[in-house]
Amino acid sequence: MKLGAKISVSMVALALVATLIAAYVAGIAIRRSFDFYVDRNLTYRLDRIGVVLAGYYLEEGGWTGVQAVFDSLQLKGGGYGYYGGQGVPRAGAGRRAMGAETMMGPGSWDVLLLDASDIVVASSDETLLGRPAPESSIGQSALIEVNGVAVGKLIVVNLQKGIWENEFVSSLNNAILWAAVIAAIIALILGMLVSKHLTGPLAMLTTAASRLGGRDLGYRAPVVTGDEIGELAKSFNFMADNFEKNERLRRNLIADAAHELRTPLSILRGNLESLQEGIIKPSPEIIISLHDEVVRISRLVNELQEISLADAGELRLNRRSVSADELVEKATLLFSSEAMQKNVNFLVDVQAGMPQVNADPDRIAQVILNILKNALFYTEPGGTVKLSAAAKDGGAVFSVQDTGIGIAPGDLANVFDRFYRSEQSRHRAGGGAGLGLAIAKGIVEAHGGEIWAESKVNEGSTFYFSVPVYKQNS
Ligand code: ADP
Repeated sequence: MKLGAKISVSMVALALVATLIAAYVAGIAIRRSFDFYVDRNLTYRLDRIGVVLAGYYLEEGGWTGVQAVFDSLQLKGGGYGYYGGQGVPRAGAGRRAMGAETMMGPGSWDVLLLDASDIVVASSDETLLGRPAPESSIGQSALIEVNGVAVGKLIVVNLQKGIWENEFVSSLNNAILWAAVIAAIIALILGMLVSKHLTGPLAMLTTAASRLGGRDLGYRAPVVTGDEIGELAKSFNFMADNFEKNERLRRNLIADAAHELRTPLSILRGNLESLQEGIIKPSPEIIISLHDEVVRISRLVNELQEISLADAGELRLNRRSVSADELVEKATLLFSSEAMQKNVNFLVDVQAGMPQVNADPDRIAQVILNILKNALFYTEPGGTVKLSAAAKDGGAVFSVQDTGIGIAPGDLANVFDRFYRSEQSRHRAGGGAGLGLAIAKGIVEAHGGEIWAESKVNEGSTFYFSVPVYKQNS
């Protein structure tokens, strides 16, 4: 079942249930009011007839002939008598249309007049005349007193309430039925409007999702409402933005990787072809240069693998509690001799009493080494590279300062991007493909730290990164 149909059906069902409940509750209330009205009305009427009959008794000295008065009063319930004047029945009072003042009010019953010894002396049902009062069906009653002596009693028997009541309730039910039909139609129209309002934006989202699925990466869902569906559309668009960005990065990565691989591969191919054709001789120098190109390709392939793992958030870290000294030592062991070879001063300064950090020692050593190698590469002989570690803001901050060529402000923001190389470094022989710092950033961020750089052209650069401290259950 479609969402729109579900909403319409629920609204119609709700309207019907609400009207039925209203009808049921109104029915109960109306029956109660009617019962109350009938009871009160009967008692009131009996009292008034009692007064008339007391007058008769006083005049006649007994009940003989009282049946004629009874008949003229038309006391049988369900009929409509006319009771005019001050308690005196008008002779020949006939039936009146409904709505006229009634003798006994609505309902069905018989009225009996009992004498002092409870024998029926007058009755709207003449078969009961001369019999003792039927005890089982006594309803309301009124005592007739003459000069303080009880001379008789009026009683109501066979009382069946509810003739008018049923009529009224059934006409009310009719009205309620119509109300239910009208409410159902309104509910249906409302349901259709509401579902259109709801399903319209959902349909737009569905279109957006299928277009995105069909690789129309620039398509975004229109945000037309401020409700949860609007929020969903915003989240969808946010997801689509990320998806598009990642897709662009992926494409760029492949294009850049192909571009970076092309140079060493064409050098290799050119040299190998020249060797094949005998244009050049297989000298040790040629073999070393071919080997260098192969090393370059392997390094690039390794870096690509690292960067793709970092991108997918799948850099596996073996984190443990480790001291800054241990991390620095691990990196400098490999680096000191390279610095010495290039005649660059290498200084190490680790703050005393630093807290243990929560890190994968091999990965962090790799980050330090990447930054140190860059520093050495861009620093002239005689310059200085300084590695420091200090405690800061609940973590450890490592820094590598050099007195190298520096980085132009325009390049500084981009040095952590993949395949980014500044203009100055492109002119330098050697250097990597521009992946080292991107990998370092991936590793540091996987540790929950940050990496940044400061630099002044021709004065030198300082690279910083932070690593969180080790906590017992981190
Ligand atoms: P690469 O593998 O080419 O060294 P990196 O990602 O490590 O790539 O560095 C990116 C770029 O940042 C370098 O090409 C260079 O332009 C610049 N850079 C990095 N470190 C330094 C430094 N210490 N001094 C000057 N420039 C640097």
